[in-house]
Amino acid sequence: MSPASGCVVVVGGGIVGRTAAWQLAQLGLAVCLLDPALAAGPSQGPNASQAALGVLMARVFHRSSGRAWRLRQRSHELWGQWLPELERRGHRLPRRSGLLLLAADADERARQIRLAAERERLGIPMRLLEAAALEGWQPHLPGRPLGGLLSPQDGQIDPGPLLEALLHEARRAGATCCDEAAVALERGRRWRLTLAGGQRLDADWLVLSLGFGTEALLAGIGLALPLEPVLGQALELELAADPGWDWPGAVVWRGMNLVPRPDLGVGGRMMWLGATLEPGRLASPAALRELRELGGEAPGWLRQARLVRQWQGWRCRPAGRPAPVLEEPEPGLLLACGHYRNGVLLAPATADWLRERIGGSETTG
Ligand SMILES: Cc1cc2nc3c(=O)[nH]c(=O)nc-3n(C[C@H](O)[C@H](O)[C@H](O)COP(=O)(O)OP(=O)(O)OC[C@H]3O[C@@H](n4cnc5c(N)ncnc54)[C@H](O)[C@@H]3O)c2cc1C
Repeated sequence: MSPASGCVVVVGGGIVGRTAAWQLAQLGLAVCLLDPALAAGPSQGPNASQAALGVLMARVFHRSSGRAWRLRQRSHELWGQWLPELERRGHRLPRRSGLLLLAADADERARQIRLAAERERLGIPMRLLEAAALEGWQPHLPGRPLGGLLSPQDGQIDPGPLLEALLHEARRAGATCCDEAAVALERGRRWRLTLAGGQRLDADWLVLSLGFGTEALLAGIGLALPLEPVLGQALELELAADPGWDWPGAVVWRGMNLVPRPDLGVGGRMMWLGATLEPGRLASPAALRELRELGGEAPGWLRQARLVRQWQGWRCRPAGRPAPVLEEPEPGLLLACGHYRNGVLLAPATADWLRERIGGSETTG
């Protein structure tokens, strides 16, 4: 690995920016993480990462080759190293392994059978379950699934504590933080940012991980990167009675995630449900109702659950190109944005790509 040198400014402190700042600071670089939301304190601020359910879906992805597959597998591998490392450093990271995909119709079941065979060829553990095997699980699974596909190596993590842990470790590795917004970008001998308070900041390497804000900053130097918002709504629910959870992880039914959160509140009765997929920035009450009722297939225990909290966030989707955008359009200018639906999963592979660009380590980008 060639020695890393220079000063890096990471603009945007969501999951992508924080993971990048942590990893780049560990290379010995002078890293500054810039985000006005950092002033809001733990678990606050208007970033998509705070809205995420934290489902990590790497192994059950519908493809088995190509860039998206490689990024997912690299992230899976790196989270597998980094989460225990963060825990060893004293961070409590609520997480669980296991993802159970339910087959709602014959086409989905056929896809599951194909995927299970494909993963077996790759030596990745995956279990096909017959409908009868699903019947006893408590609380009862939604709908009338034709079967299920259990991926024991996928899972879910609470993004709030993870974000706090990453920021803490980035600082501990030497990154400095600045809670101001970047408002303009200029080319020069180095990259120059103007901050909302008028201050200037120069960087040898500029990482843009500020979600939608990336488009406006780039437009200022004549580069186009159209990004579209796709709104997501999610719910925290408290079940009326002790559900006696024995699900083998989070459950996915017709694209909706049911995430047991027995670690929240008292009595082990909490769960997260999400998320809607709504083009644009306006939340639709009908989409939320559809989610709450699981498209008319919510079991009684779910219908009777008490709404504790609801929230929404905007996923940032690149228009007309695959997500995420990992590009260096000009020397030293690194785009790490547009992660759309899988930013929590893909943050490590993104940081890995940045490490390779800046410091020369291995990468899969
Ligand atoms: C409801 C919902 C559920 C989701 N569930 C999952 C899931 O289960 N699994 C998963 O992997 N992904 C999930 N996602 C997607 C995931 O949340 C995103 O892909 C991810 O959070 C993107 O992270 P990011 O760091 O790129 O962006 P963000 O988290 O949006 O961070 C961008 C940061 O940039 C800052 N910023 C903006 N403008 C400026 C500026 N001018 N100067 C400085 N800073 C600025 C913002 O304050 C913000 O903190 C979900 C998303 C939603 C909305």
